[in-house]
Amino acid sequence: MQTSLPEAFTATGEGRRAEAILRSCVHCGFCNATCPTYQLLGDELDGPRGRIYLIKDMLEQERVDPVAVQHLDRCLTCRSCETTCPSGVAYGELVEIGRNYQEARQPRGLIERLQRRWLLSVVPYPRVFARWAALGRLAGPFLPRRLRKQLPARPVRRPPPEEVANPVRIVLLLDGCAQRLSTPEVNDSLVELLAALGIRTLRVPEAGCCGALALHLGAASQARTAMASVLDSLSAHLEEVDAVISTASGCGVTLKDYGRLLADERESAAQAAAFADKVMDVGELLASLDARWRRALPVERIAVHVPCTLQHGQRRGDLPAKLLEQAGYSLVPVADGHLCCGSAGSYAVLQPELAERLGENKVAALTNGEPELIVTANVGCQVHLGALTKVPVRHWIELLAPEPG
Ligand code: SF4
Ligand code: SF4
Repeated sequence: MQTSLPEAFTATGEGRRAEAILRSCVHCGFCNATCPTYQLLGDELDGPRGRIYLIKDMLEQERVDPVAVQHLDRCLTCRSCETTCPSGVAYGELVEIGRNYQEARQPRGLIERLQRRWLLSVVPYPRVFARWAALGRLAGPFLPRRLRKQLPARPVRRPPPEEVANPVRIVLLLDGCAQRLSTPEVNDSLVELLAALGIRTLRVPEAGCCGALALHLGAASQARTAMASVLDSLSAHLEEVDAVISTASGCGVTLKDYGRLLADERESAAQAAAFADKVMDVGELLASLDARWRRALPVERIAVHVPCTLQHGQRRGDLPAKLLEQAGYSLVPVADGHLCCGSAGSYAVLQPELAERLGENKVAALTNGEPELIVTANVGCQVHLGALTKVPVRHWIELLAPEPG
């Protein structure tokens, strides 16, 4: 694709990246076939190729068109298009540049501003989010059923296992923000699982949100502040740990990208790159161990929903099924596994109708084989799907136990 971006923009790091990405697209349109919003809405501008043109136009004309904003807002950032693209177009990075550009120049209407401000000032802060969740539970009978089912319950924490003496490995587990409140049992059960394997887990409660939410909302400066704060709170521990892990694939994909995201920050670029080198998805850690697995729960038939951030972002979508099969579960077939469930960070709040349609399609695909349980690898998908089906939805690592010996 030919481009003529303004020189002042191509003199910046973002500008050069945008130009390189745009030029790598040959506008073949293969990506449209696997784009969830193109499939749902059938509009070229709601597919990746159309959005790439909209971003190109916005950057070249130095003008933010409200129509472009609407179509970019409908993008889930699921990156299914990246997996399909034969030319390796880094769409996720391009849309991030486009959103930063757009948010810095075009003020939104009052309702949208309030929604976004609420998301950015509540969700990344577990204490604040907990107060809103408590209010929501009080108002429960007056809330729509789907919203009521998404409210975090009062967290029930398990006591931590005894500290592992002479550990075979030490890992640093990030508790994140929303997950800490919505599904704290996931990380508690991982700590027990790792302890049984002789692995010591460090947790650093003051390390908060990884910045993913702000990044997806085009709030570049808040995202950088969150990332710097994570690095600050973990820097004292980095030397002693073998890996940094997250059980939320949405956080994992961002943490692995810290090197790129902070490459222009003179003071923290090297630290961010060293940190990102140590980040692993929990599945990568478990698959790297010399362990045999058995079933931790008395169920057999499982449907696996692989979050986009694991399959398209981290390209490790194979891991949950592989380990669950090793443990002896029977996995039911799930059609269109590459499609997003509609959760997509804050998407379910900002685009509720599309998110619900995508979620219902996903639930139909997941339950077609009549599983006893649905499993996934990200808190957002778990909560979103859990509100749309009566089949229990859990994190896949809760189903694993190590074989003794
Ligand atoms: S598949 Fe890749 S090269 Fe083809 S239009 Fe989509 S992004 Fe561009
Ligand atoms: S990120 Fe997902 S929703 Fe957005 S254009 Fe690509 S495939 Fe479509």
